[in-house]
Amino acid sequence: MAGYCLSCGAPLNKEFKGVSEEYCKYCTDENGNLFPRERVKQGIMMWLKEWQPKVDDKKAAMRAEYYMKAMPAWAED
Ligand SMILES: [Zn+2]
Repeated sequence: MAGYCLSCGAPLNKEFKGVSEEYCKYCTDENGNLFPRERVKQGIMMWLKEWQPKVDDKKAAMRAEYYMKAMPAWAED
């Protein structure tokens, strides 16, 4: 089993893998259903701010949006 979360790009390894085969446990509920876009976005914002604490909310939101556009689960085409 190898792969990456289609929603946030996390590697689906022991640490991130949940019930779902396509998404990590942070992007899904306990049944493996993908969370709504806004909720995933909040998660990605928190993650961005963890390694760049100086980034404010507005910037983090913009970067999360940009990042999510590259993810299969959220891409708009
Ligand atoms: Zn994920």
